Amino acid sequence: MRVQALTAVLAAELVLLASIGGCGRRTTPPATPLTPTVFQPLRQELNKSYAELFRIAPTLEYSQAQIDSMREYLKQAEDFCIGRVDDRADQYEKQLAAYQEKLREPATNGGRHNLHCEIQNTRAMMNQAKVLAQTAIPVSYENRKAKLDLIQNWPTDLKTIKQQIASGAYRDRRWGNVEDIGFREVASGQEDDIKTGQDAIRDMKAAGLMPRAIEDPEVVNYVRNLGARIASRSDLQVPLHITVLNSQEINAFALPGGYLFIERGLLEAVENESQLAGVIAHEIAHAAARHGHKLMVRATISSIIYQAAEVAAIMLTGGVASIGIYYAMQYGFFGLGLVLNLNLLGVSREYELEADQLGIQYAWNSGYDPSGFINFFDKMASKEGYVRGISWFHSHPPFYQRMVEAQREIMFLPARPAITNTREFQQMKRALARVTAEARAEESEPNRPSLLSPEPGCPPPPIISFQDQRQVEDVCQLNPEQLAPRHGRSLRAD
Ligand SMILES: [Zn+2]
Repeated sequence: MRVQALTAVLAAELVLLASIGGCGRRTTPPATPLTPTVFQPLRQELNKSYAELFRIAPTLEYSQAQIDSMREYLKQAEDFCIGRVDDRADQYEKQLAAYQEKLREPATNGGRHNLHCEIQNTRAMMNQAKVLAQTAIPVSYENRKAKLDLIQNWPTDLKTIKQQIASGAYRDRRWGNVEDIGFREVASGQEDDIKTGQDAIRDMKAAGLMPRAIEDPEVVNYVRNLGARIASRSDLQVPLHITVLNSQEINAFALPGGYLFIERGLLEAVENESQLAGVIAHEIAHAAARHGHKLMVRATISSIIYQAAEVAAIMLTGGVASIGIYYAMQYGFFGLGLVLNLNLLGVSREYELEADQLGIQYAWNSGYDPSGFINFFDKMASKEGYVRGISWFHSHPPFYQRMVEAQREIMFLPARPAITNTREFQQMKRALARVTAEARAEESEPNRPSLLSPEPGCPPPPIISFQDQRQVEDVCQLNPEQLAPRHGRSLRAD
């Protein structure tokens, strides 16, 4: 029975693959605009990391016309890809309605069970297709376009930066007085935010919005020590409180008043201490500059939390096409960063850039390689980062601007020997592996109550996602070689 149910889902996928169209989007893959000898290598460059492109961009020789053609191609390719996956989501929706219609007919117990499994899996596939179309695909193309901008503009930007360094003009930039970190005033009245932060935490807990905290002392002490070290070398004037949340989301956020939340997924994703230091320093910068306070002047905490609880409820009951459903479905908890009001977190385009700059300064001032921040961004801009780190990207400034401004700040900072990794980081990773294993075991408990998988004994829904080494084109089958029949399923189950 189980095999049949799954086969039916797979067969439905194959049928859907044949149908393209709708929504006024492009229905055919765009033609390659450049000769293969230019197109292929340029496409390869766009798969490279930002860090590498900063190094090699001045040596690359693509003409303006070639870069413009590629930009147009990417635009069309994205349109096609989103259209294709959107269409897929629509088909799932129709399929779902058909299954639900069938529920009205008399059926044996076994038949009904199968139908429930079909509904469950189709719902899961539909939500995942929506996640891809609404967020993962746009983010992946946005990164490519930013890398194209980098190839085009970085050589000129680099010259300007070098001139500014040579002339000493760089010292006049905003927050250029890095020797005064901790003594200058980035924002006065930080202590006034403590109550705001405490109220937000209390209300979030009351609304059931706060995932539980990790208690493992090795993990928690490590993160707190690292945070304290950076805070003491920053402009933060209030005590820092760090909580590590047991949630798979790759994210960290700061509530006003020095309350930092680091999610387990972030600790899993960082590759070394300088990357983690970069993210923590960025969050400390939000608190030090009082971004949350500045943005939520008109809102009250309770109205924000009420709104967040409402959004979360809609996500959990699957009432709205939302990326949060993906989390609810897969992890039993949605991306917290998605439901919280960005004003509360101090996230805006302008403040993000300021937090990047200050954060890079704080990481550097604490003895870390300030490039850790860019390296982590690079990691998030690849494969699984798109999906598990959705909140990381939402409403952030254009990637090219963000990366260039970060790189510029790094170049303006006096060079010093810098820490990339430590033994303590490796120890934390080992302790974290135990915490993760426990959490995963709990998450896969067969009788674990969940709003979204009410039918026990169904095969697990296929997971659609970017996989290691796979390109976004694989998801929408843009690569001609991917259109071959043996790759018949564009959305591959893990
Ligand atoms: Zn931020």
